[in-house]
Amino acid sequence: MGINVIEHDVVIVGSGIAGLRAAVEIKRKYGERVNVGIISKVQLMRSHSVSAEGGTAAVIYREEGDSLSLHSWDTVKGSDFLADQDAVWLFTKLAPEEVRLLEHWGMPWSRRPDGRLALRAFGGHSFDRTLFAGDKTGFYEMQTLYNKLLEYEGWERYDEWFVTNIHIEDNEFRGLFALNPRDGDVYLFKAKAAVLATGGAGRLYSFTTYAHTVTGDGLAMALRAGLPLKDMEFIQFHPTGLVPSGILISEAARGEGGYLRNNRGERFMARYAPQKMELAPRDIVSRSIMTEILEGRGFKDEASGIEYVHLDLTHLDEEKINEKLPAIRELALKHAGVDPVEEPIPVRPVAHYTMGGIHTDSYYRALNHEGRWVRGLFVAGEAAAASIHGANRLGSNSTTECLVSGRIAGELAAEYALRSKEAKGPSRERVLREEEWVYRLVRKESGIPTYQIRRELQETMNEKFYVFREGGSMRDGALKIEKLEEIMMKEAYVEDKSRIYNTDLILAIETLNMLEVGKVIARSAIARAESRGAHYRVDFRARDDREWLKHTLATRYGEKDVRLLYEPVRITTWRPTERRY
Ligand SMILES: Cc1cc2nc3c(=O)[nH]c(=O)nc-3n(C[C@H](O)[C@H](O)[C@H](O)COP(=O)(O)OP(=O)(O)OC[C@H]3O[C@@H](n4cnc5c(N)ncnc54)[C@H](O)[C@@H]3O)c2cc1C
Repeated sequence: MGINVIEHDVVIVGSGIAGLRAAVEIKRKYGERVNVGIISKVQLMRSHSVSAEGGTAAVIYREEGDSLSLHSWDTVKGSDFLADQDAVWLFTKLAPEEVRLLEHWGMPWSRRPDGRLALRAFGGHSFDRTLFAGDKTGFYEMQTLYNKLLEYEGWERYDEWFVTNIHIEDNEFRGLFALNPRDGDVYLFKAKAAVLATGGAGRLYSFTTYAHTVTGDGLAMALRAGLPLKDMEFIQFHPTGLVPSGILISEAARGEGGYLRNNRGERFMARYAPQKMELAPRDIVSRSIMTEILEGRGFKDEASGIEYVHLDLTHLDEEKINEKLPAIRELALKHAGVDPVEEPIPVRPVAHYTMGGIHTDSYYRALNHEGRWVRGLFVAGEAAAASIHGANRLGSNSTTECLVSGRIAGELAAEYALRSKEAKGPSRERVLREEEWVYRLVRKESGIPTYQIRRELQETMNEKFYVFREGGSMRDGALKIEKLEEIMMKEAYVEDKSRIYNTDLILAIETLNMLEVGKVIARSAIARAESRGAHYRVDFRARDDREWLKHTLATRYGEKDVRLLYEPVRITTWRPTERRY
């Protein structure tokens, strides 16, 4: 059997803000000297990034009192002191230029009446520094980057191709494998360098703001290739997921002045964060909402049984809502039958962001478990843990990180490719094994369909690894995940036997990836016997800097097990203090 081989200098997996930004950087700096392939399992412009609503944080007006130091401090404090401070500094320093570059490339940022860039408040930022384009910021950022990319030659796109594994040998990136849905063949991509920009893993939960496609594939591939995932216990629950669907009601709604109220009509945030109120960081607001609900001060959706609180915008001008929050109004009307101009919106905390990711240094170079760079491999965007966000990400810092990390990873990947002689690629035998691995489940004649396994995994994550966590219950969750993994190995099968657009097969591989990542989240969370940022344990309610001011690194151990290692946090400027808002 012949092997299909495609060759590029740099291959980018993922076409969200991070992947596109990396591609633009390579093209604008190196032009046709570096040939680029962009692979995305969805049509290039349908990556989850298009749904980013609220905005992008950067220091724009120093003359008005903001500073890089303040942005860094807010980010570090927001992270509950788990962020690496050198990475944070680099991030805040590069952010303003990213905003200006986008502006030059045609980004329609919202404006102040005098024509200058407008800024809005966002949780945990002590200064209004969130740039936005209405409440469809991600959509416009994607369009802008894509338009820019179209100016260049020497790149190829592989829409709807599904990457199954990356190949690392001698601590060096050697290529990756992708399923072409049009012919059902597994292709080998040979490249001198790769940027993984595969996004987060939020679909491990079913109550989530993420697109159905965000299944943590890149993270699972890294694990299978022997690389560590960092700080995976930290999953962000955004305070305001629309009930019952989980669709995001952007923090912009509170940034523009919205209130949170319980069933007595109280603005309950006064009890938990008297100064920042609704604009405290997300981990704190989510816990406050859940405390209100658990203590009986919430509401209940009779049809779904889901409990919630109210996000109240009724005191805002209709004109302001139409101008600044048009998508919010539309989403609430269409998906909850509520017009925010007249009635409060039903909301509760919802899985929204993956703080952890593939272990990298501050320059987004992938690291192995000994801290050595895996030559030729870079990670950008939500898939990376550099770590800027530590235990809790501040709203509007993520799209910024996609831009900054895309730029850094793109540039370094191109330079590495220019220095390398040839793309080595794995052995023929390894390629044939990949085909075997991919089609294993298709060859089975009967068994359990994988969507059932996926659903059970999501229910387990919703229940056992949510806002409040507890040792015993998490251990039950971990056992359940292991059981599901066993079912996946022994009994799962794919009903569709065709080779052309076999989406059933892709769903199965995604489910396998979700199980791998779920297991790591569970193991990392059970081990961390403290509460920090988004990881809150009712059996260990305090932060414990003596024992736990360190990053978790989880690697695969044998075929099934997970091994945990730890690495110190890089503290350059601020010692941890108590977090008050
Ligand atoms: C609803 C919502 C609203 C948000 N709003 C904001 C906001 O206002 N401000 C902010 O800062 N952040 C926001 N965030 C977070 C932010 O949008 C994301 O963290 C960011 O967009 C992630 O971008 P990315 O480029 O890393 O990955 P994504 O945009 O998730 O893209 C991942 C890419 O990887 C590809 N991929 C994945 N697996 C495979 C595979 N196996 N084979 C091939 N391709 C693959 C996908 O096709 C896709 O192209 C929001 C998130 C959500 C879910």
